[in-house]
Amino acid sequence: MIPILSHQENIDSNALSFLDALAATAFAGDIEKSYASRLAVATDNSVYQSLPQAVVLPKHQQDLVILTQLASQPEYQQVRFSPRGGGTGTNGQSLTQDIVVDLSRHMNKVLEVNVAEGWVRVQSGVIKDQLNDALRPHGFFFSPDLSTSNRATIGGMINTDASGQGSLKYGKTSDHVLALTSVLVDGTVLDSAPVSNEQAKQLAELQGSVGKIYRQVLSTCETMQQEIEQRFPKLNRFLTGYDLKHVYDAETGAVDLSRILCGSEGSLAFITEAKLNITPIPKYRALINVKYNSFESALRNAPFLVKANALSVETVDSKVLNLAKQDIVWHSVSDLIQDVPDKEMDGLNMVEYAEHDKDKQAEKIAALCQLLDSKIANEEDGIIGYQVCDDLAGLNRIYGMRKKAVGLLGAAKGRAKPVAFAEDTCVPPENLADFIMEFRALLDGKGLNYGMFGHVDAGVLHVRPALDMCDPLQEILMRDVSDKVVALTAKYKGLMWGEHGKGFRSEYGPAFFGNTLFNELRKIKSAFDPDNRVNPGKICTPYESDETLVSVDAVKRGFYDRQIPVQVRDSFTEVVDCNGNGLCFNYDASSPMCPSSKITQDRRHSPKGRAGLMREWLRQLVNNNVDIIQLEKELLAGKNDVSLVKRFANTWSKKRGQYDFSGEVMEAMEGCLACKACSSQCPIKVDVPTFRSRFMFLYYSRYQRSLKDYLVGYSELYTPLMAKAPGLFNVFLKQDWVQNIATKTTGMVDIPVLSQPTLARSLSGHSAMAFNMDKLAALSTAERDKTVLIVQDPFTSYYDADVVRDLVLLAEKLGFNPVILPFKPNGKPQHIKGFLRDFAKTAKTAAEFLNQIAQLNIPMIGTDPALVLCYRDEYNKALGDERGNFKVELFQEWLTPRLGDIKPMTKNKMSYYLFGHCTEKTNLPNSTSDWQKVFKAFGAELKEVSVGCCGMAGTYGHDAKQYENSKGIYSLSWQQELAKHEHSQCLATGYSCRSQVKRFEGEKLKHPVQALLSLI
Ligand SMILES: Cc1cc2nc3c(=O)[nH]c(=O)nc-3n(C[C@H](O)[C@H](O)[C@H](O)COP(=O)(O)OP(=O)(O)OC[C@H]3O[C@@H](n4cnc5c(N)ncnc54)[C@H](O)[C@@H]3O)c2cc1C
Ligand code: SF4
Ligand code: SF4
Repeated sequence: MIPILSHQENIDSNALSFLDALAATAFAGDIEKSYASRLAVATDNSVYQSLPQAVVLPKHQQDLVILTQLASQPEYQQVRFSPRGGGTGTNGQSLTQDIVVDLSRHMNKVLEVNVAEGWVRVQSGVIKDQLNDALRPHGFFFSPDLSTSNRATIGGMINTDASGQGSLKYGKTSDHVLALTSVLVDGTVLDSAPVSNEQAKQLAELQGSVGKIYRQVLSTCETMQQEIEQRFPKLNRFLTGYDLKHVYDAETGAVDLSRILCGSEGSLAFITEAKLNITPIPKYRALINVKYNSFESALRNAPFLVKANALSVETVDSKVLNLAKQDIVWHSVSDLIQDVPDKEMDGLNMVEYAEHDKDKQAEKIAALCQLLDSKIANEEDGIIGYQVCDDLAGLNRIYGMRKKAVGLLGAAKGRAKPVAFAEDTCVPPENLADFIMEFRALLDGKGLNYGMFGHVDAGVLHVRPALDMCDPLQEILMRDVSDKVVALTAKYKGLMWGEHGKGFRSEYGPAFFGNTLFNELRKIKSAFDPDNRVNPGKICTPYESDETLVSVDAVKRGFYDRQIPVQVRDSFTEVVDCNGNGLCFNYDASSPMCPSSKITQDRRHSPKGRAGLMREWLRQLVNNNVDIIQLEKELLAGKNDVSLVKRFANTWSKKRGQYDFSGEVMEAMEGCLACKACSSQCPIKVDVPTFRSRFMFLYYSRYQRSLKDYLVGYSELYTPLMAKAPGLFNVFLKQDWVQNIATKTTGMVDIPVLSQPTLARSLSGHSAMAFNMDKLAALSTAERDKTVLIVQDPFTSYYDADVVRDLVLLAEKLGFNPVILPFKPNGKPQHIKGFLRDFAKTAKTAAEFLNQIAQLNIPMIGTDPALVLCYRDEYNKALGDERGNFKVELFQEWLTPRLGDIKPMTKNKMSYYLFGHCTEKTNLPNSTSDWQKVFKAFGAELKEVSVGCCGMAGTYGHDAKQYENSKGIYSLSWQQELAKHEHSQCLATGYSCRSQVKRFEGEKLKHPVQALLSLI
C-alpha cells in the first residue's frame, strides 16, 4: 500500500498570522492555505515553479483595500504579494513565494458598455473572450489580440501590455486603456487617466502616495527625456517595464499614469478596474495565403506584404506547416491551402485584410493579387502561389489550423519539449529575416529542435526550442542560449521580450535600459512600492534597496520533476508533459473543455491543477521510497493487498484529522467528471481520467472505499439482475423516502428507475433477440452484409431500453437484419472508480467475447458514445495486444459509408438539433458531421447546438457531493440552449445527457436513431 505523505511546505509564520488576521476582518473573498491550492498556482506556462504561501481571492475592490490596509500594519511588513490573473504567463510573471492575489475568480464582471462613446468598463479579472462576447451584440470588440484569449484576463493583458495578430492596426493593450483604478500596497485607491500638465503638477503636491508617485514620474520624464528617446526602441512592441516613453506627452504636456501601470507586471499595484476603448467589428475580412519555396523567402517577403496595406501578416515555417499537414486538422483547410503542383511549399504568409467598406476591401485584395501574379510570373521572391479566402468560416479554419499546429509542437515525442524562454523576440521587421537566419544558426549549432511562427509584420518571432528540463545540463544550455539571444536581439536593435513580458528575464533589465534609466525605474518603483512588496524582484527593485532581481536561474519545474525516476515519468507522460499553457481554463461555456474547472473556478479542479498535484504526489511517493510501477504491478496481480481492518483503521485515522497529501489529491480527482474532454482538447493530450484511475487504484490500497464506489463500480453486475423484476425495484425507487434513505446511506441522489417494459419484453419474439453464434457463422457473405450486431451497454439497455428497441426497428427498416448480442459488462464504471484490477478482468472477458464475434465479419454497433469509445481507448491502455482487433462502431459511423443506398424518405423537411455527448464530440471530431450526413440522407436537417458538458457524465451527477456542481454545469449551456428550442426536436446521443435533461426538465430527449425511425 502507499504510505502517508505528510510532507507539505509549511507556510511561514508571518504569512500565517497575516492570513488569520485577514480572515477576522470584513474581507469577503476566499483565503486558501491548503498545499493543493498553493501548488495549483505554483506554475504558469514557463519553466519555473514557485510555491506561494497561500492564495487569496478578493471578491471586490474593497477586499483589496482591506487586505492592503491590514498589510500596512507594522507587524505585517514582511508579508508580500503577487497579483495573478489567468496565470498564462510564459516567463513566470505571476509566480511567487509570497501570497498570490488571484483576481480571476470573483472580479470578472463587465461593468458598463458605452457604445455611443466607444468604451467599456470592466473588472480586471474579466477574460478577453468574455469581454468580446459582451461587446459582439453591440458590433464592437476589444481589438488587441492574443492567442490565450479564452483564459487570459484583462488585468494580465494590461500588466504584460499584451498584443498579437493585427497589432500594426489594432495596437497593444496600452493603446486602448483609457483609465485604470488600482489599489496601492498601502491601501490607497489610485484612479489614473490622462491629465494636463497643470493637473499633474497639482496632484504632485498632494500628501501621501499619489502625490509621491506624480512627483517622481514628472521628475523622471522631465529630466530624462533625451535618454528615454534614445533608449526606447522604435518598435511596434513595448518593452515591459515602466513606459516612460508614453507616460508624458512632450508636445501637450499631458501625463497619463496608466501608461506606467501598463506592462508593469504587477510590480506596482493591484489593478481592479479598467476603462477601455472598443473598436467596431470590421464587416469584411479576407485572408490571402501566400506560398513560398522556403521559410527565408516568406520572411524576406514580409515587408512587401505589409506595404500592401495588410491588417496583419503572419508566418509559419515548414516544421509547423508539416505538423499541420500530418494532423487531422489539415482536412479542414486542405482546399484553402492547396499544394502547388511540382513545387515544395516550405513557407507560408497569411495576409489578412479587414474593412468596413466592401469596395475598399476588394480594391486592396485585387491590388495585392495583381502584384503577386506578376511576381509568380517572373519567379520573384520565392513566391510559388497564393489563394484567397474571404468567408469567415474558412478564415477561422485557417487560423484554427495555425493554432493547432503550434500546439502540436508542444506534443512532440521524446523527453525534450518546446520551452518558453526566448519565445517572443522582436526586431524591426526589416531586420527580421537576417535576425532569424542568425537565430536559426545559433539553435542549429546547439543541436536544438524547434519550429518557428510569428507576426512578421511587427517583427515578432515565436520559437520554443525543445529542451529536457529534467536534465541539469540542458538547464545550463537554456541559460547559455538565453544570454546569446539577448545579445542577438540587441545586435538587431530589438527586444528579447517583444510580446509576453519579462518575468524571470527581469535580470536583463539593467543592461537593456542602462544604469541611468534603470535607476529611474527603481525610483518609480519606490514611489509606488517602497518596501518591495508587490511582485518583488520583477522588473526592478526599489531605488537604493538591497533587494535582488529575479533571475533566469531561478528554481525550475525540472528541479522537482527530475526527482521522479525516468520510468515513472515515462509511465505518466501526460502528467509530466502538461506545460501549463492553461488552455484547459477555457471560459467558454459552450466548449466541452473541463466542466469541473468552469463550475468551481478553482484551479485545483482543472486538468492543469490535477496534473500538477499528481506530479507532486508521484514525487512524494518516490521520496518515500515507493517503487510506484512495481507497486502498481503487484496490486494488479492481487499482491500487496492490506487487510480490510487495516484499511478501515487508516481511513479512521484520516477522518480524525491525520494529514495525508494523498487526501488533497483525492479531493481534486473526485471533482473530475471523467468526461475526457481534456484527453483530446488539451494540446498535450493530458488525459486526466487515465491517471485519475491509476491514482484511485493506488489510493485505495491504503484506504477503505465508500459504499457508493462499489455501487457505481459494480453497477454492471447487479443491474441486469434488477432488470429481471423492474416493477418491484421501481416501486421503491419512485418513493421519495427511499431516495432519501439511499442518499443518506450511499451518498447517491436521483437514482434512476429501470426501463419498463424491459428490452427483452419489448422485443419479445423478435428475431433480434435470437442470438445464435452457429446460425450467424453459417450466414452467406451477402447475408452478413445485411446483418448488424448490436452491442449492449448497461445504461441504455436497462434504463433506456426504448433506444435499443428503436435502433433494432430502424436497422430493420433500412433493410438490415439486427441481432442483439448478449450483454457483457463493459467495465467503464470500474475504470472510472479506479477498480483497475477488476476493470482489467472485465475488459479481458469482454474483449475475448467481442473478438470471437468479430470473427463473424459482421459489423458491431453500440449506442452510448462513452461506452463504445471505452472499447477503443481504455481497453487499449489496459490490455495492449490482448485487446485484439474487434471493432465496435457508433451508429452514425457504421451508417455513413452505407448512405449511398438510402433515398430521401420524408416529404416534410424536418429540422432537429443535436446536443452531442462531450466524449463523442471531442474524441470523434467527425461525429457531428456524420450524424448530419445521415439526417440529410433521410431528407431531414440536423443542426449542431454548441453545448459543453451536461453535468451528468455517467454517475457524477448522481453523487450527492457533486449534485450542486452537476446542476450548475447543466445550467451553463444545456439549460439555456434547450430553452431556445422545441424539446421534441432536440436530440441527445448520450444516455447521461438524456437522463440529466429528464431530471431537470422533466422530459426525456430522443436519441437521434429514434428521430430517424420516426422519419421513415
Ligand atoms: C500558449 C500561449 C500563447 C500566448 N500568446 C500570447 C500572445 O499572442 N500575445 C501576448 O501578448 N501574450 C501571449 N501569451 C502570454 C500571456 O497569455 C499574456 O501575457 C497574458 O496577457 C497574461 O494574462 P493572464 O491573465 O494569464 O495574466 P497572469 O499570467 O496571471 O499575469 C501576468 C502578469 O500580470 C500581473 N497581473 C495580472 N493581473 C493583475 C492585476 N489585476 N493587477 C496587477 N497585476 C496583475 C501578474 O502579476 C503578472 O505579472 C501567451 C501565453 C501562452 C501560454
Ligand atoms: S492540462 Fe493541457 S491544456 Fe491544461 S495547462 Fe496542461 S497542457 Fe495546457
Ligand atoms: S475529464 Fe473532464 S472534468 Fe475531468 S479534468 Fe478532464 S476535462 Fe476536466
